[in-house]
Amino acid sequence: MDHLFLRTDREKQLHERATKLAQQFQKRARYYDEQALFPFENFAELKKVGFLSLTVPKRYGGEEISLYEFLLVQETLAQGDGATALSLGWHLGIVMNVAEQNKWPEPVFARICDEIVHKQILLNSAQSEGATGSPARGGKPETTAEKQNGRWVISGRKTYTSLAPALDYFIVSATINETGEVGNFLIPKTALGLQIEATWDTLGMRGTRSDDLVLENVEVDETALVEILHSPQAKGRAQGWLLHIPACYLGIALAARDEAIAFAKSYQPNTLPHPIADVPEVRRKIAEIDIQLMAARHFMYSVADQWDRYPNKRQAMKEELAAVKYVATNTAVHVVDLAMRVVGGHSLFSHHPLQRYYRDVRAGLHNPPADDLTISMVANRSFQKE
Ligand SMILES: Cc1cc2nc3c(=O)[nH]c(=O)nc-3n(C[C@H](O)[C@H](O)[C@H](O)COP(=O)(O)OP(=O)(O)OC[C@H]3O[C@@H](n4cnc5c(N)ncnc54)[C@H](O)[C@@H]3O)c2cc1C
Repeated sequence: MDHLFLRTDREKQLHERATKLAQQFQKRARYYDEQALFPFENFAELKKVGFLSLTVPKRYGGEEISLYEFLLVQETLAQGDGATALSLGWHLGIVMNVAEQNKWPEPVFARICDEIVHKQILLNSAQSEGATGSPARGGKPETTAEKQNGRWVISGRKTYTSLAPALDYFIVSATINETGEVGNFLIPKTALGLQIEATWDTLGMRGTRSDDLVLENVEVDETALVEILHSPQAKGRAQGWLLHIPACYLGIALAARDEAIAFAKSYQPNTLPHPIADVPEVRRKIAEIDIQLMAARHFMYSVADQWDRYPNKRQAMKEELAAVKYVATNTAVHVVDLAMRVVGGHSLFSHHPLQRYYRDVRAGLHNPPADDLTISMVANRSFQKE
């Protein structure tokens, strides 16, 4: 199914590199899921081959891959292990977004890129909180930042901090007491008063270790404030990097599809003179899976290609970006369901990868933006005055 989306030698090479990694990840996926442990081994391999700098700009020594290429990588890695892919996606996507939008002071971004390229450090955003819920809904953080003697003092609790045990830097959103503005603060894991609470005991995406981050009077210097959020310029910016989410869940769905086909080709009960691959209803379900995947993947890659080719049209693509996520995550849920119907009761056993895929794709529905936000965004555009 992949050859159609691999257009250039560079895309083929990236895909090949990602496939090699995914094959290793697949062998360990069951273990990390069952134990709900962060897949440090997978990240050691990603670091070894320099994957953490894929989205770092060339001027800072990275590969500066395009959005389209980023999605190819994410989708491929997710076929091996969804939790590893989603985790890497946050790191790579944030770097891509900061570079594209010149969000941070240049010296800070240059330093971080240097650390990524030379030390393969990891970063991620800690934005969600119990009271605000999903940051996509615009809730104001209850985490606070206060200036004391020229330093920032930050306190609060963040939920759903993916890669928590593996991060070198946390990008923490906080309300600045003095002004009421919301800022993003870049905080190293070594900061005093920062700790991880292992709250991540979930149904799916267990290896992401999206634990709580607790900050108690964490002191950082002035330069830690890297961005003011909700500024008129920053508000409502189209964010192509978030397509790493649909790419990840489509990767899991592809793995489910392959599993169902392999099973159908090899399973021959003694009630049939042939494997179930020749049963019309099984063939119908597999065709249904493939048609759904074709629609979702062509939509995603086409939007990414538009994004890469026409930077001046990006701002007008917000609804398309949200719709890609809507279509992809719902397709993934449906595809895994169909794959399990093909495989039958075998898919329920804990050793079977399909039950993991079933649980993992559920998480996609709760990554941003939620379906209701997408629906209202698209409806608003439909009814707006020309
Ligand atoms: C696997 C995974 C990884 C994640 N990684 C990260 C991460 O690295 N960093 C990070 O910051 N976050 C992360 N998140 C958190 C994510 O972005 C959301 O904050 C989280 O999933 C909660 O989303 P929610 O839609 O359930 O929000 P909630 O706000 O808790 O909403 C719960 C329900 O209430 C309803 N609701 C809530 N508010 C409104 C409203 N204003 N209007 C209408 N209905 C409403 C909706 O029906 C929603 O389904 C991750 C989440 C998952 C599942």
